[in-house]
Amino acid sequence: MEQLELIVHSPKETKEIARRLAEQLEPGMVIALEGDLGAGKTTFTKGIAEGLGITQNVNSPTFTIIKQYEGRLPLYHMDVYRLEDEWEDLGFDEYFAGDGVTVVEWAHLIAGQLPNERLTVHLYHHGDSERKLVFEPLGQRYEQLCKEIFAS
Ligand code: ADP
Ligand code: MG
Repeated sequence: MEQLELIVHSPKETKEIARRLAEQLEPGMVIALEGDLGAGKTTFTKGIAEGLGITQNVNSPTFTIIKQYEGRLPLYHMDVYRLEDEWEDLGFDEYFAGDGVTVVEWAHLIAGQLPNERLTVHLYHHGDSERKLVFEPLGQRYEQLCKEIFAS
């Protein structure tokens, strides 16, 4: 499947598309977020949290690396920016295989540990408050997921 692109014009719109995505997420799904500092990875994750019905404030787990929230499904929010090496073992596998949804900021930094099937979302700066989002589904389940979001 090709990649799907979309321009958003504000943090609110970034959250809105993430919220729509979250409504379709199933247990064990993994979302890999890629983009520079300030591109909107955490903002996107906040939208996912909203869509999962999480009321707690979600903020960047840069120092803790992994934070867990409870909603319709659990959310495992990871920010692996500070990891020393790609193979550092923080039990990622168990999160990926868990009943929740995993969102990984800077996912390529643990490329070797990521499941083969996942949705990668690239976020690019595109002006002050615009961002280009590129959805790259890997695996049938994620292709279906993207079709649903972009159809609605
Ligand atoms: P990251 O986690 O990628 O470092 P954050 O989500 O923490 O990024 O920060 C993104 C910053 O960019 C926030 O200050 C946010 O208000 C701002 N911003 C401006 N426009 C957008 C947009 N369209 N989507 C997301 N964030 C945006
Ligand atoms: Mg962040």
